[in-house]
Amino acid sequence: MRYAIISDIHGNLQAARAVLEVIERLDIGRIVCLGDIVGYGGDPAGCVDLVRRFCSRVIIGNHDAGAVDLTPVDCFNPAAREAVLWTGRVLSDEDRSYLQNLPYEMDIEDYRIVHSTPDDPARWSYLLVKEEAGPLFDFFSARLLFYGHTHVPVVFRQEAGGTVYEQAAEAFVLKEKERYIVNVGSVGQPRDGNPRASFAVYDSEEKKVTFYREPYDIVTAQQRILENDLPGILADRLAYGR
Ligand code: ZN
Repeated sequence: MRYAIISDIHGNLQAARAVLEVIERLDIGRIVCLGDIVGYGGDPAGCVDLVRRFCSRVIIGNHDAGAVDLTPVDCFNPAAREAVLWTGRVLSDEDRSYLQNLPYEMDIEDYRIVHSTPDDPARWSYLLVKEEAGPLFDFFSARLLFYGHTHVPVVFRQEAGGTVYEQAAEAFVLKEKERYIVNVGSVGQPRDGNPRASFAVYDSEEKKVTFYREPYDIVTAQQRILENDLPGILADRLAYGR
């Protein structure tokens, strides 16, 4: 089975549409969403609608939780907080209850998914470097874990002896006796200096993970942020991928 793994759409409908078009062209039947469907962007309802229609498995992210009062918003920076509060106001009751009922983690075939970290998914910790990745391998049993949250695609590989290495987000095949924690990057607000929408594909038969970067209509996504009187920095950063 081939799975497209997408994360951190963040209300960016233009990026979400571009990624879904590519996934359709690749003829990938299953789309898995790692959360943060909303927050930051100007089209939260449109993004929830796309996820509900096209994703077969979905878990919750911290911005989804913040928008529907499951996580306190004082842990967000001011611009993020403003966007998350606005998002909470514009979502329908039905969309709010959909987000409120999403799980925090899930096992699918031979892999696990979580938005932040596998030790305590509702604490919303950030996994950025291999020193943080090492201990986290003890909190799940699958060979492969996909996560998002940092908006930076990366691979942490644990050899049989326990040593952890960081790999660039480039295609790889899982090796026997090795385990992997893979960040698929962000669809709607990349932060690795590359403004193109990021996602990954996992082929569970070939045991292969592939990364994709797709251009999208950034100008319209920026306009949607500004039209809704959200902080200008949220529009600016899309152009830089920061
Ligand atoms: Zn996010």
